[in-house]
Amino acid sequence: MRIAVVGCGIGGLAVASFLADTGYEVDILDQFTLPAAVGSGLVIQPVGFDVLNKLGIAEELLEQGACGYQMLGLEVDSGRTVLDVTYGEIGGDSFGLGIHRATLFDALLTAAKQRNVKIHHASKVLGSEIKDGFRYLNVEHNNNNNENKNQENISQKGPYDLVIDASGVNSTLSPLKSKELPFGAIWGTVDWPEETQLQYNQLEQRYRKAHNMIGILPIGYMPNDKQAKATLFWSMPRNNYDHWLKTDIQQWHEEAEALWPELAPFVRQITHHSQMTMARYSHGQLLKPYAEQLVFIGDSAHRASPQLGQGANMALLDAYALATSLKKFALPQNSSHLCSSPQTSSAQPASLNKALKAYATARRNHVMIYQTMSWAFTPMYQSNSKLLPFLRDRLFAPMSKVPPVPKILTSLVKGTMVDACKGLK
Ligand SMILES: Cc1cc2nc3c(=O)[nH]c(=O)nc-3n(C[C@H](O)[C@H](O)[C@H](O)COP(=O)(O)OP(=O)(O)OC[C@H]3O[C@@H](n4cnc5c(N)ncnc54)[C@H](O)[C@@H]3O)c2cc1C
Repeated sequence: MRIAVVGCGIGGLAVASFLADTGYEVDILDQFTLPAAVGSGLVIQPVGFDVLNKLGIAEELLEQGACGYQMLGLEVDSGRTVLDVTYGEIGGDSFGLGIHRATLFDALLTAAKQRNVKIHHASKVLGSEIKDGFRYLNVEHNNNNNENKNQENISQKGPYDLVIDASGVNSTLSPLKSKELPFGAIWGTVDWPEETQLQYNQLEQRYRKAHNMIGILPIGYMPNDKQAKATLFWSMPRNNYDHWLKTDIQQWHEEAEALWPELAPFVRQITHHSQMTMARYSHGQLLKPYAEQLVFIGDSAHRASPQLGQGANMALLDAYALATSLKKFALPQNSSHLCSSPQTSSAQPASLNKALKAYATARRNHVMIYQTMSWAFTPMYQSNSKLLPFLRDRLFAPMSKVPPVPKILTSLVKGTMVDACKGLK
């Protein structure tokens, strides 16, 4: 059974490693010329951490990342605490792991390479088609190392029994039509300053109504670096970025520090606009995340704002659920033939279909809950609404302190609200 994974990101690398463990022959294709992680930090929730543990990289990531035991958010004008989610005792084994994307990417890439997963760079997938019972990929090779620097090359790659689309929000294979969200954020990586009084084991945010938000997330260490880092983020309407680029950076310092004066030692490390990357968010999900010999995982199957910090976790859980379903339902009886030529080892289409269906069923409820929660919560923290932050501060925030709501919120953030891989244990 030959499998192609489109996208060398979080979901793509994880699924390729799981499949290689089962004995499948896997190719990863990515548009990048060199392996690269885009963006700043993120939080790995306990459900995502379990998946990393199954890949054997949780321990090393634990050493590099920063354990967060609380998410805390204050409204600056009223001084009200409007977000307070605790994972568990400080120093305990329940935490969100703040980590730089490059650190996570490095660990996943090393794990895939150790399993002999083949990674093809400078391979941008334009589309796919079925021929004679196999799926083929139309690939544009744009290798800058090539002597004919500007020469673009299109070829067909295959045959594949299965193509896994893990190419994220800009997938060319996924039929998902997502809705653009009105707000995004600029994100940057800064050093954790010695002079700060902020806690290294908390994700903290400050809001003014819902139209301003600034936050700081401790993320541990970058590969080959001994300086503790943090991710700084600043909420911004999706069309304001160009305007922001033209404003004086000191003007932004003043605005940010007016919202949260204690953040000055972090904010002042941003001396040029290029240190912050704009991320625009969208929302939506595929009701059926598979087609004939094609399956979608991660952001190509569902996407939401990072307000609940679940996107990377979702991609990891999809990867695990898909690999487990394939192992359970689509593995040919004699696994010693798995890496022989595709013509002799192809899984029966019926069993492959059964596996893809099992994957979709396993993930449906979990994805649906998080899509719904993200849809409901995001505008309370990022929007121009006056009513929603009013309700957040005076109704939801007080309610969130009444048992059993704190426990429910904790399990929501941890990713354990419903079984994340139903029926696959
Ligand atoms: C600013 C920001 C903060 C976030 N914070 C969190 C957080 O705290 N916690 C959390 O869990 N999630 C967070 N997320 C979400 C998380 O980063 C994504 O959900 C996750 O990376 C999705 O993984 P993926 O494997 O689907 O896609 P990606 O990791 O985006 O990987 C996609 C890969 O596909 C490649 N590719 C794309 N198109 C093609 C093509 N046509 N051909 C070949 N290759 C292609 C890309 O080069 C890339 O390498 C955040 C997202 C953003 C933007």
